[in-house]
Amino acid sequence: MRGAMGAGHSFLLDPWALARSGSSGRKSWAGIVPLRAFDRLAALAGSGATAVEVRLDFGLDDEGRCRVRGSAGLRAGVPCQRCARTVPRAVEADIDLLVLTSEAEARALTPGHDTCVVTDPSVPVAALIEDDLLLSFPEHGCEDRDACEHAAIVARAGPPGPDGEPSGTRRESPFAVLAELAARQDQGGG
Ligand SMILES: [Zn+2]
Repeated sequence: MRGAMGAGHSFLLDPWALARSGSSGRKSWAGIVPLRAFDRLAALAGSGATAVEVRLDFGLDDEGRCRVRGSAGLRAGVPCQRCARTVPRAVEADIDLLVLTSEAEARALTPGHDTCVVTDPSVPVAALIEDDLLLSFPEHGCEDRDACEHAAIVARAGPPGPDGEPSGTRRESPFAVLAELAARQDQGGG
């Protein structure tokens, strides 16, 4: 089933109906969900991203609870703090959560379960997956900050530092940072 509710809707799903309807114990749902259905993710992902690709399997676990497993992903522009450019990155989240009807039910669970409390019979698909996508969102645009492919651009364009060196080429030694921390501890230790 793809795009069950069509574009323009918020892709409402009934997790329990889906979980119970699978003939082999699980039912799949896949769709392209517009980014505007995700408030927080849309603010983070920037204007370049448009939609989230979602694949979910709904089923009942051994105790009859609604379990949702699958994946969600998008391409987003992630700002790099170092080179100040926005870098296109793939954001992928693995989904594995229990859909529960009350906070009390969630609290009664042993820790370690990812849960989503749903009080209405149907829920926007974004509510099931947005937290996992936010957690999977990369912190830095350039994957390896030391190998930041755009750092050279900053070095060339950076204004001169106090000692006449272009500030962009200066690199803080990790040992200098450690020495500074040690000095601070010595001073504040008494
Ligand atoms: Zn960078």
